[in-house]
Amino acid sequence: MEFINSNSSSNIHFVLVPFLAQGHIIPMIDIARLLASRGITVSFITTPANLSRIKPTVDRVSESNLPVNFIPLAFPSTEFGLPDGCENLDSIPSPSSRVNFVSAAKSLKLPLTLYLRDPKTIPPPSCIISDSGHSWTLDVARELGVPRIVFHGFSCFSLLCIENLTRYKTHETVTSDSDTLVLPGLAQRIEMTRPQLPKQFHNLTQFQEMRKEMREADLESDGIVVNSFEELETGYSGLLEKSSGKKVWMIGPVSMCSKGNEGFVHRGNKSCIGESKCSSWLDSRCPNSVVYVCFGSMGAFPPSQFMELGSGLLASNHYFIWAIKSVPSEELGNWLDENFDESRCLVIRGWAPQLMILSHPAVGGFMTHCGWNSSLEGICAGLPLATWPLFAEQFLNEKLLVEVLRIGVSVGVKKPSDYAGKLKDEVAVGREDVARVVEKLMDAGEEGEERRQRARGFKEPAKKAMVESGSSYLNLTMLIDFVFNRFEDGVRKVNG
Ligand code: UDP
Repeated sequence: MEFINSNSSSNIHFVLVPFLAQGHIIPMIDIARLLASRGITVSFITTPANLSRIKPTVDRVSESNLPVNFIPLAFPSTEFGLPDGCENLDSIPSPSSRVNFVSAAKSLKLPLTLYLRDPKTIPPPSCIISDSGHSWTLDVARELGVPRIVFHGFSCFSLLCIENLTRYKTHETVTSDSDTLVLPGLAQRIEMTRPQLPKQFHNLTQFQEMRKEMREADLESDGIVVNSFEELETGYSGLLEKSSGKKVWMIGPVSMCSKGNEGFVHRGNKSCIGESKCSSWLDSRCPNSVVYVCFGSMGAFPPSQFMELGSGLLASNHYFIWAIKSVPSEELGNWLDENFDESRCLVIRGWAPQLMILSHPAVGGFMTHCGWNSSLEGICAGLPLATWPLFAEQFLNEKLLVEVLRIGVSVGVKKPSDYAGKLKDEVAVGREDVARVVEKLMDAGEEGEERRQRARGFKEPAKKAMVESGSSYLNLTMLIDFVFNRFEDGVRKVNG
């Protein structure tokens, strides 16, 4: 096993086990860097293929002498019926392979335990921060006698809604998919339909066992780490603590630690557009004139929806950058080549330097799938958002952005799309609606200006939360203290 960059003298050792998907790996790397910048030794558990994807980040961490060990554990893809080298959720062949993927991840339990028990692993582990998707890390933590802290990668608001729905079972009171229910336990009245809720609230048998295990492990865990900040989600961490009975530490926006370095460009994957090409295109635009359109690390559309989205963007009166993860057909690839030129837009086929784009003054709005990382990155850039949720907890994030924070304009999607648009060729949002929402997002009128002002209002608080004595900085200190006290208790017990 390779140990990369180990030089800490601290007695505390955090073990970070992210779910193997870019939307989970990226914020966990930031958490690793934040902990390491406080002198804490961190082991970041990953797999060989994922390690090579994040190589630029690993190199940067190594150059800055941060005490982070990146630990690649062999991932048994083929043993679990997955293609060779399939080590990330974005490369599973079909939605149903998710079960195989999660089972393959479970088999990391033994190699992880061996690594953590190895006398060469110094200092010995003091705490595991585990993605909620890895329920098996609870056994590892219990065996080692260290706390397991859960990271979901969700907003506090969404976590609270999920916790309350699980408790009160409000979703069971609606009889049809078009009936609305009121989200329980919130001061504000917020309505949703059952299909818009995360999958565990649908009437599905698929994945039930996996979800049950995740829930049971979360209930046994010692606290919840959230990538958010108090000034954004005021009051929700307190409500979540009450509802879940767990300690909650809001330690974000963690992406702030990527600012001002190369991580801005190659974050999670190597960007497929040169930094200078992207910034010179943006430099040639007026402030607030460009819409950035991106649907996360996996969001993709079936052919008809892809065509409607592209046509709607062209029909709007605005410049745009469209980051596309997958073009549904060769024909649509040709359509892109023929109709989308740089006098009007920049099409990025593959990984975009999202943080860099969002921070450019030419960008005035962000059309997002409401993945929490992207939502928060847009908020940190002080941008209003056009919300187009696709799946998972993204419809809850949309409610936070549009109805609670009032910095979002909804495109009006009624139900989740199938996984990465691979199954049905359906249109959820037509080209007229795409164009209308872009106009509204970029609108200079009173309503648009008020929305923009509210969005801008979060930019400084986001920065302040992360600097010394800021709310998230202090929360991270409290998390470290919590683990340190547990560690001291353990030492006292051993010494009698
Ligand atoms: N991202 C990026 N370039 C892309 C697509 C995504 O840098 O072309 C990053 C984005 O900045 C965010 C993460 O990937 O940090 C996506 O996480 P999110 O929670 O928004 O969505 P998910 O991919 O999990 O659906």
